Amino acid sequence: MPEFRPGTPDQDAYLEELVAAGLLVRTGVHGVYGRSGTFEKVRNGFDELVTRTAIPDEAEALRFPPVLPRHNLESTGYLKSFPHLAGTVFSFEGTEGQAAQMFEAASKHEDWSEHQHQTDLVLMPAACYPVYPAVAARGPLPEGGVTVDPGGAYVFRHEPSGDPARLQMFHMRELVRVAEPETVATWRDAWRDRAIDLLRGLGLDANFDVATDPFFGRRGRMMAASQKEQELKFEILVQIAGPEPTAVASFNYHQDHFASVYGIETSTGEVAHTACLGFGHERIVLALLKTHGLDPQAWPEDVREQLWPA
Ligand code: ATP
Ligand code: ZN
Ligand code: MG
Repeated sequence: MPEFRPGTPDQDAYLEELVAAGLLVRTGVHGVYGRSGTFEKVRNGFDELVTRTAIPDEAEALRFPPVLPRHNLESTGYLKSFPHLAGTVFSFEGTEGQAAQMFEAASKHEDWSEHQHQTDLVLMPAACYPVYPAVAARGPLPEGGVTVDPGGAYVFRHEPSGDPARLQMFHMRELVRVAEPETVATWRDAWRDRAIDLLRGLGLDANFDVATDPFFGRRGRMMAASQKEQELKFEILVQIAGPEPTAVASFNYHQDHFASVYGIETSTGEVAHTACLGFGHERIVLALLKTHGLDPQAWPEDVREQLWPA
């Protein structure tokens, strides 16, 4: 674990089509692709549509680079729940002699990991992670809490796959709510419904379902069962190239998990609750290309109008 998951024949065929059309560019590593200007135009158009849909939320924009302080990953229990997905940043801190050995091994594509040391950084596993400590550092929440927009950030998951919809590095557009429990739960449910409308409005056959996170190991299966029973995670699914529909967005209620780790309090001194939603940019672009064809110029006028209003 994690092993490479080969694509199904349909997934392989769709990837090949996308590459042949120049929309994706292979890099030699599964799940890491270059993208054309057209691909990016659709992705950014969708991102702006989310921003316009979120205007009533009056969310505060906060942007972070796609690396996370290692300390944050350690505090939130990520390595217990998802040890198989994390990516960490290592770097060289040695002598000239060791640098020469490292270069020598690397030149022959042999193992040079013994010369690398853990840094203070890991790769961002989800766009909302840096938001919680930033909000905590401000002290108690204002009345009604806050909504933060961390934008469409690059995130990393070590899950190499032949499915073009399962990437190792992709953009997750999140919105994060930090407030009193009922406020947070209501916000999460309202966004699930807004997001269904938004995706169906783009002509996608989108449906939602209760979901679970891919928690690791036997303990993980128990965590997933409890998560499902409490309906803490919803997903919106669209048929892309999988045998099953693929999750293009998720809506997560963390209860007091992140707020307890960082000590986020409501205006009345209770432990806050948090929720986040995440749209998978690339999956949505792939779903649109699958549904309306590989040439966005030829897409239905009302879809184009929403992505690129005049
Ligand atoms: P999945 O069940 O497909 O692994 P997930 O439950 O791990 O998804 P989240 O952690 O909720 O997904 O991430 C939010 C969104 O990011 C997902 O709804 C999906 O659209 C997108 N996403 C997640 N993993 C990937 C991936 N490997 N490649 C592309 N997009 C992804
Ligand atoms: Zn999140
Ligand atoms: Mg996953």
